[in-house]
Amino acid sequence: MDKKDVCVIGAGVAGLTTALLLSKSSRYRIVVAAKHMPGDYDIEYASPWAGANYMPVSMRGTKDAQWDKDTWAPLADLARNHPDAGVHFQECEIHSRAKDVGSATADWFAELLSPNPWFKDVVPNFRELLKESLAPGIDSATAFTSVCINTAIYLPWLVSQCLKNGVIFKRAVLKHIREAAQFAPSGNVDMVINCTGLGASILGGVEDKSVVPARAQVVLVRNDAGKMMDFSGTDDGDGEACYIMTRAAGGGTILGGCYQKGNWESQVDPNLAVRIMNRAVAACPALTGGKGIEHLDIIRHGVGLRPVREGGTRVEKERIEGVWVVHNYGAGGAGYQSSYGCASNAVELVEEILAPASKL
Ligand code: FAD
Repeated sequence: MDKKDVCVIGAGVAGLTTALLLSKSSRYRIVVAAKHMPGDYDIEYASPWAGANYMPVSMRGTKDAQWDKDTWAPLADLARNHPDAGVHFQECEIHSRAKDVGSATADWFAELLSPNPWFKDVVPNFRELLKESLAPGIDSATAFTSVCINTAIYLPWLVSQCLKNGVIFKRAVLKHIREAAQFAPSGNVDMVINCTGLGASILGGVEDKSVVPARAQVVLVRNDAGKMMDFSGTDDGDGEACYIMTRAAGGGTILGGCYQKGNWESQVDPNLAVRIMNRAVAACPALTGGKGIEHLDIIRHGVGLRPVREGGTRVEKERIEGVWVVHNYGAGGAGYQSSYGCASNAVELVEEILAPASKL
């Protein structure tokens, strides 16, 4: 069979998941070319910093909600049947305070905070928590079974699954999307898949200026929270958030955070770090047995930039300088929880373009 040459640019969760789904077909010869690969920690590479869990913030009836919906079953399958992927089930509580209504964080989390979100019949055990069981200051809360991903295990696992299917990995920094042609043995690539995250804002041929960072700062600790928690807001101003998630397989617990749109700062803000830790131990006394932040055992502080695209994730096809490109970038804070939905959609677009030709 005449194989088609496909170059995936980017080795974050978007690029790796797309390459993996595409590599299930023997029709394609796939090269993943990326500046950063699993194992790297860099401000230009969002995926390793993520929590990462399944807490949909996509609004009912949108494409984003469909991508999130389509991702639940594959992530649950990994948690249930593939312990080597570093994904586990974890209970998750979403706490709302009436005073946060109208704040930036509460608006971002609007669907997640709803007592009747679209995903209530997708995730297991969705329920409202009894008012009497809530901590002082919390007005309502829901809970469900979610998953939490240990990104330090999961990203290399995605690479290993791709390698098993014959995908080739190359380190490369592309200035223009046309440079992807160099990765095809013939010098003519049949399809480029653009999974460059924040890089889509400067990659020649794409230069999508609607892609901007939403800065996240986290503290990774050895303490175990026992459950995931998320809150509608904090008393520390708009743009700050409080969430806690314990990763699978000894990955530690992520304490977050913030959502600072347009902020490219790569360095840790020490004052924000103290606020994050104070909020976390107050919200979840189990972390330190009711003691203060000096009883948190810190592994590292981290800063990551969520690749937000105004108008939502871009999964589309486009012809650039005579070459077909399928885009899959701009997932913001939802790159893991939408990963399989977006990647399957991208693969459908690839097949629409290349599969008819391959039947000749
Ligand atoms: P990236 O991971 O940034 O990868 C981009 C890739 O493209 C890299 O390999 C890069 O080197 C490459 N690249 C870019 N430009 C070029 C170029 N010109 N040439 C070659 N290579 C290039 N999401 C969730 O679903 N759940 C969560 O709980 C969650 N928590 C988060 C917590 C934090 C602290 C942060 C920072 C993010 C979180 N996210 C979460 C969001 C998630 O991490 C991102 O949506 C996701 O990682 C984006 O993946 P990506 O592959 O699009 O981009």
